[in-house]
Amino acid sequence: MAKRDYYETLGVSKTATKDEIKKAYRKVALKYHPDRNPDNKEAEEKFKEAAEAYEILSDEQKRARYDRFGHQGVGGPGGGFGGGGGMSMDDIFENFGDIFGDIFGGGRGGGGFGGFGGFGGGQRGGQRRPMGKRGANLRVRVKLSLEEMLNGVQKKIKVNKFVACTDTQQCNGKGGESDTCNTCNGTGYVRRVSQTILGQMQTTSSCPQCHGSGQMITKKCTTCNGTARIQGEETITIDIPAGVTEGVQLTMSGKGNAGEQGGRAGDLIILVEEVPHEHLIRDGNNVIYKLFIGFADAALGTSIEVPTIDGKAKIKVPAGTQAGKVFRLKGKGLPTINGYGTGDQLIEVNIWTPKSLNDEERAILEKLRESPNFQPNPSKKEKGFFEKVKDYFNG
Ligand SMILES: [Zn+2]
Ligand SMILES: [Zn+2]
Repeated sequence: MAKRDYYETLGVSKTATKDEIKKAYRKVALKYHPDRNPDNKEAEEKFKEAAEAYEILSDEQKRARYDRFGHQGVGGPGGGFGGGGGMSMDDIFENFGDIFGDIFGGGRGGGGFGGFGGFGGGQRGGQRRPMGKRGANLRVRVKLSLEEMLNGVQKKIKVNKFVACTDTQQCNGKGGESDTCNTCNGTGYVRRVSQTILGQMQTTSSCPQCHGSGQMITKKCTTCNGTARIQGEETITIDIPAGVTEGVQLTMSGKGNAGEQGGRAGDLIILVEEVPHEHLIRDGNNVIYKLFIGFADAALGTSIEVPTIDGKAKIKVPAGTQAGKVFRLKGKGLPTINGYGTGDQLIEVNIWTPKSLNDEERAILEKLRESPNFQPNPSKKEKGFFEKVKDYFNG
C-alpha cells in the first residue's frame, strides 16, 4: 500500500512551522486516540500513521531528509537513522506521550523519559508488554573532516554506558529472583480515571512500584544490585551518511544506556563536529581557499594546483590577474543540508610580494618600475567594490 504524504496526514502545508506541526498532530492524535475509538482498527491505523508523520516532521533533520528523498529517505522500521515506520502503540506512547500529557494531565509515571505516555490500557491485549525503566539517552561527539562530511564515513567508537548485567547465574535479565508485583498484580501499569476537558478518561501509567516490569525483586543480583544492568562499554559502528554538517545530530535508537530490569535501552545521539581543514575555510556550504601567487605569475599567467575537499584541482590563472580576483570551482563545496545542490569552492587570489631581494632582482625591478605597464591603471570594474562582491556570489 502506498504511504500517504506526511504533510497530508497531518493536514499541514510543506512550510508549516514546528509549532503548527505539533498542534496538527495533537489534533489528529486526539481524534483517533484508541481510548476514544475502542476496537476500531481503522482509527488505530490513522493514529499510528499520524505518530509516524509527527516523528519525522518534528525532527528538523528527518524532515529535511523526507523533503529530499520522500519516504525512502527516512528509512524503514528499526533502521539505524531516522527509522520511520513500524512503530508500535508502546513506542508512540513512550515517544510522544508528553504531547497528550499537558492536556490530560497525570498518568505519567516517574517523570522524564521512561514512563508510559499517560494513555492506553490493558484492554488492547498483548500490545503492552511489562517492562522496566527505560535507559537514558547517550550523547557522543564525532569529529569529522570536511572530506568525511562530504562523502560519508563509517566510524567505530567506544562508549562507556550501562549494559545488560552479565551475571547469568543470579540475574536472569531482571535483576535477581523476582515475584509478581503486588501493586499492579504483575501487569506493569496502574489505571486511574480522571476528569479532563474532553470528559472522563481512563488513563494508565507505569506502575510506580516496579517501574512497569510487573515484577518485584525478592533476592537482588549482587553484581548489578538488582538493576539488571552494569557499567560497561560497547564499540559501536556508526554509518555517517554523506552530506552531514557541523551541528547535525544523528540518532541510533536503542544504542544508548541499557534499561533497568529489562526496560528498553535509550538512544545514542551523535553530534557531528567539524575538524578544521588544513587549507580550506568553510563558509556555509562553500569552501574558501586563499591562493598566493607571485606577481610574475600574476602578470604572465600560469596554471596551478590547489587543494580541494577531495583531492586536488588544477586551475588556470590568466595573464594579468589582479589580487582579490575570485575563481570558482563549481560543485566543489559541501552539499546543502536539505540536499538541494552543492556549494562551490572559491579561490581568492593574493599576490605575494617578495620580502627580500638580491641585487640582480632589485636592478630588474628598478628598471621595470619606470615602465608604463607597471603604473596602476585599474578599470572601473576593478575599482568597484560592489561589483567585486557581486562577482563573488554570482561567479
Ligand atoms: Zn545482575
Ligand atoms: Zn508493579
